[in-house]
Amino acid sequence: MVVKKIAILGGGESGVGAALLAQAKGFDVFLSDKAALTESYRATLQKAGIPFEEGQHTEDRILQATEVIKSPGIPEKVPLIQKLKAQGTPIISEIEFAARYTNAKLIGITGSNGKTTTTLLIYHLLKTAGLNVGLGGNIGDSFAEQVVNNTYDYFVLELSSFQLDDMYETHLDVMVLLNITPDHLDRYDYTFQKYIDSKFRILQNARPTDKFIFFQESQPILHELVKYDPQVKRLPISLVESVAQGGYWDKGYLTINYESQNLRIAQADTTLRGPHNAINILAAILAVKAVGISDELIREGLKTFQNAAHRLEPAGTINGVHFINDSKATNVDSVFYALSSMEAPTVWIAGGLDKGNDYSQLDEIVDQKVKALICLGVDNHKLVDYFKNKVAVIYETQNINEAVAKGLELSQSGDTVLLSPACASFDLFKNYQDRGNQFKKAVQDLLVADKA
Ligand code: ADP
Repeated sequence: MVVKKIAILGGGESGVGAALLAQAKGFDVFLSDKAALTESYRATLQKAGIPFEEGQHTEDRILQATEVIKSPGIPEKVPLIQKLKAQGTPIISEIEFAARYTNAKLIGITGSNGKTTTTLLIYHLLKTAGLNVGLGGNIGDSFAEQVVNNTYDYFVLELSSFQLDDMYETHLDVMVLLNITPDHLDRYDYTFQKYIDSKFRILQNARPTDKFIFFQESQPILHELVKYDPQVKRLPISLVESVAQGGYWDKGYLTINYESQNLRIAQADTTLRGPHNAINILAAILAVKAVGISDELIREGLKTFQNAAHRLEPAGTINGVHFINDSKATNVDSVFYALSSMEAPTVWIAGGLDKGNDYSQLDEIVDQKVKALICLGVDNHKLVDYFKNKVAVIYETQNINEAVAKGLELSQSGDTVLLSPACASFDLFKNYQDRGNQFKKAVQDLLVADKA
C-alpha cells in the first residue's frame, strides 16, 4: 500500500497538533516552518520522531506531498502555496484534517468580533452542564492533538476566516456567525466581498437539521443570506426587535424563543456587560439549547463565566474611578460597543497603529460618553485631527503610566477610564496582551502609590 505523504506548513500549535494526528493515523509526515520553532514544539516533534525542518522550506520535498496542511498564518499568495495549487495538491487547514477523525458534534463560531468570548462561553455552558466537551480552533490547544488523545462528544471551535478558507468537507452541527465588518483585507485583495465569502464558508456543508445562529443587524450577513439562501434552520439574534425563533435583547433582558420554549434572563444576572456581549450571550444560549442544555444549567453557567483577559476587563478602582482594560479592541467596531457599554462619563485611552480606521461611526457615542481622550501611540495625528473639535480635552502621550495617571487626573469619582485602542499595539507594545498587562500594572502601581 502506498502511504499518504502529508506535508505540514507551519510549526505552531495547529501544525504540531496536525503532525501528531497525521502520525497517529500512519501517514508519512514532514513538518516545515520558515521560521525557528518554539522550544516546546521542537521537543514535541523530536519526542514523537516526526521529521521536520525550521528556518526554511525545502520545496522539492513539500511539492511531493499528497496533501498539505497549512497554518492559517501563511497567506495564499506566497510562491510555495501558488506552486502547490498549480500542480493540484490539496491544501487544507488543521480543522479540516482533524474533523475527519472525530465523531464529536461540532459547534463552530466565526465573526469579525466576539469569537473568543462566544466560544469560551459556549464551552463553559457545556462544561457546566457536565458534557464531555473540547475547545479548539483559533484558541487554546490544537483541535487535531485533542482528537488523538481524547474522545469528546462535542467540540467548540473558534474559526477565523483563514481557517475557513482551507475548509471544504467539515460538517458543523451548529454554526454561529456573529458579525462581518471589514478586517484582514490585506489577505483578501482589499475586496470586502472576498472576506464575506470566506466567513460564509461556515455554512458550506449545512444540512436542513443543523442550526445557524446569526446577528441579523449585521448588514453584510443579511445581504449575503438573501443571495445564498442556505437550507438550514435559522436562529437570528436581534438588538432591536423581537424574533419568533431565535433571541433578542430588550431593556437589559435577553429573551430566547427556541422551538416551543421561552427563556428570559436579565443581563445583570450574567457576568458580561454591554450590547455586544448581549449578542454573544444570546448566540451562546441558542447554541447550547440546540444541543439540549436545560434553562437551569444555562442560568447557572452564565453566573459563573469568566471571560478571557483584555476584553472589558475590570483593572481596578482608585478614588472611585474605575479602570477598564479593553486592549483587545483593535478596530473601530469593537470600540463602538465598548463605549456603548459605559454607564459613566468616560476618559477614553485610544491609539496605536492605525489600520485604515474610519472614526465617523463613533461620532454620536463619543459625544454621549467621552469627556476626555488620551492618545497613546507613536503617531497620534489621525486621532487628534478627527476628534479635536469633538472632545473637550485631548492629551497625547507615548507612555502608558502617564496615560493612566492622566486618566485619573481628568476623572471624578464614579467616572471610568477605558483603554479601548481601536488600533494595533505594535508601535509601543509586543502585542495586545502586553499592552493590556502594562495597563493593568500601571493601574496597580498607582493604587499602591495612592495608598502609601
Ligand atoms: P475575537 O475573538 O473575534 O477577536 P473577542 O471575543 O476576543 O473577539 O472580543 C474582541 C473585542 O471585540 C472585545 O474587546 C470587544 O470590544 C469587541 N466585541 C466582542 N464581541 C463583540 C460583538 N459581538 N460585536 C462587536 N464587537 C464585539
